[in-house]
Amino acid sequence: MSDKSPWALGLDIGGTKIVGGLVNAQGELARVNGKPLVIKYEYDGLVEGSNRAQELLVRIGQQLLAAPTVPPAQICAVGLGVAGIVDFTRGRVVIDSANVPGMEEIDFPVFCAEQFGLPAYADNDGNCAAYAEAHFGAGRGCDPVFCATLGAGVGGGLIVGGEIYRGFFGSAMEIGHTVVNYQGGPCPCGGTGHLEKWFATEAIERRLAQAVQEYPGCLIAQYSAIPQQPTVEALFAAVRDDDPVAQPIVDDILEMLAAALGTASSLLAPEVIVIGGGMAQAGEVLFAPLRAKLPKYIAYPSGAYLPAIVPAALGPEATLIGAGALALAERSKAKSS
Ligand SMILES: [Zn+2]
Repeated sequence: MSDKSPWALGLDIGGTKIVGGLVNAQGELARVNGKPLVIKYEYDGLVEGSNRAQELLVRIGQQLLAAPTVPPAQICAVGLGVAGIVDFTRGRVVIDSANVPGMEEIDFPVFCAEQFGLPAYADNDGNCAAYAEAHFGAGRGCDPVFCATLGAGVGGGLIVGGEIYRGFFGSAMEIGHTVVNYQGGPCPCGGTGHLEKWFATEAIERRLAQAVQEYPGCLIAQYSAIPQQPTVEALFAAVRDDDPVAQPIVDDILEMLAAALGTASSLLAPEVIVIGGGMAQAGEVLFAPLRAKLPKYIAYPSGAYLPAIVPAALGPEATLIGAGALALAERSKAKSS
């Protein structure tokens, strides 16, 4: 790292963990012994009202700033990708969707200035992941890029002309909270009939537990470490091996995802849809049926442009890479204005 290019502290603040790394404007992660330096803390079981998440945030930041990778003088901004709806202009969490106690009260720019002495920029984690994939990953060269992250919930982000589309108060592109069945009853967010009512990891696992109870010999049970607690990974592994119990479940959840992505495509006309998150690791057993199902949900399917559906390229670090790169871009905008 002999050049003087700027670097940022990139942080991904999720519902169960904080992950951090040092990121440059090309979306590269600082490396130690050839490996990207990524520090992660899990904090399962946080108590409401505790400031443990804030403590971990500070600790991870200090560790990275002290790491022998980038000279401290070259680290000039902090970017935070936060699970929740973030008001980007004020740097605050508006709606804490992911239950990260202690984070909803933070004014991130003020907090990071105090802790690290650096300007900070906070955005929704789905927006940060989309920013990274559009600039450095699977969406590079395409415009607009729509990105969906299939994790505990379903996050989304839209990049138009290289910039994040945030909507009126930062809440745009909540693909997990678009309607796939208006008669489907309440979503955990309080809305009605949203994709996440059925597509969130927890919801799928509940459904799998029922299936396993009914068909104890099915491959979903066999492929789960604890058969009574079947996992989404086991579901997709079972489909790969033509399990008749797994097949209709995957078919149903992918139908809902296709409906949501089709609606998004009719409204936004993305050139490409990038799919990331843990579930995207399932590979073609997820992507092939999703591509086949998408056209029927798009406006005027016979004549419409069909966006390509591609797997994300940056893996689990997409959010922190996007957060860091976004912070550098915003800092240079602020300097030139
Ligand atoms: Zn919802």
